Amino acid sequence: MKAIALDGPAGAGKSTMAKLLAKELGYIYVDTGALYRAIAYYALTRSADMHDEKAVTAMLAGTQIELRFVDREQRVFLNGVDVSGKIRTEAVSMAASAVSALPAVRAFLLQLQRDIAAKNDVVMDGRDIGTVVLPNADVKIFLTASVQERARRRYEELIAKGMTADYDEVLADMEKRDFDDSNRAVAPLKPAEDSVTVDTTGLDMEQSIERLKVVINGRV
Ligand code: C5P
Repeated sequence: MKAIALDGPAGAGKSTMAKLLAKELGYIYVDTGALYRAIAYYALTRSADMHDEKAVTAMLAGTQIELRFVDREQRVFLNGVDVSGKIRTEAVSMAASAVSALPAVRAFLLQLQRDIAAKNDVVMDGRDIGTVVLPNADVKIFLTASVQERARRRYEELIAKGMTADYDEVLADMEKRDFDDSNRAVAPLKPAEDSVTVDTTGLDMEQSIERLKVVINGRV
C-alpha cells in the first residue's frame, strides 16, 4: 500500500490539497482531524471537561468511532451515527485541540488510522501522520502558511458556509490552536525529520498543488 502523509497547522490547505491529490492518484483521502472532532463533539454534548483525562477516558470506554468511505468520500460515525455535518464549528475545533492533547485519546485513535492505511492507498492529513501514525509513509509533506493567511482562509470558508465569523476571533483561535498543538507533550505538531516543508503563503490553490506534485513526483 502507498501512503502520503500531509501534516501541518490548521488552515494550511491540507484538506483541499489532500482531496485533489487523492482523486488524481486514485487513493483514499483520510481526514484524521475528523476523528478528534468526533470525540470532541461527543464530549461537548455530554458537557465533559475536555482537559480532565479521567473523565474523557471514562467516556471513551463507551465510544465507538468509525470512518466509512462512501464513493471515496469520508464520513465519520460516532456510536453508529453519522456526525460528519456536526463537527465543523469553531467550538468543536477548539474542543478537538483540547482532547487531542490527552494521551488516552491519541492511543484510542492510533490503530484505527493505521488499519485504514494498511488496507488502502491513502493521502492522510493530520498533525502527527509522518511522525507517529505512519512513520514509514512513502512521502511526508509538512504544509504550512503564515497564521494571518491561514486565519483569512478559514474566515472566508466559514462565511462561504453561511456561518457568522469574526476575523480577529478566528485569528486568535488559530494562534491558540497552533500553540497548543505544537507544545503538547504527546505527538506535537512538528515536521517529521524526513518531511519536505511546503509554505503556501501567497500561493493560490493551483500553485500550491504544483509544488506538492514536484515533491511527490516519482515517489508513489
Ligand atoms: O485538522 P483539524 O483542524 O480538523 O483538526 C482538529 C484538531 O484535532 C487539531 O487542532 C488538532 O489538535 C487535532 N488533531 C491532532 N492530530 C491529528 C489531526 C488533528 O491532534 N492527526
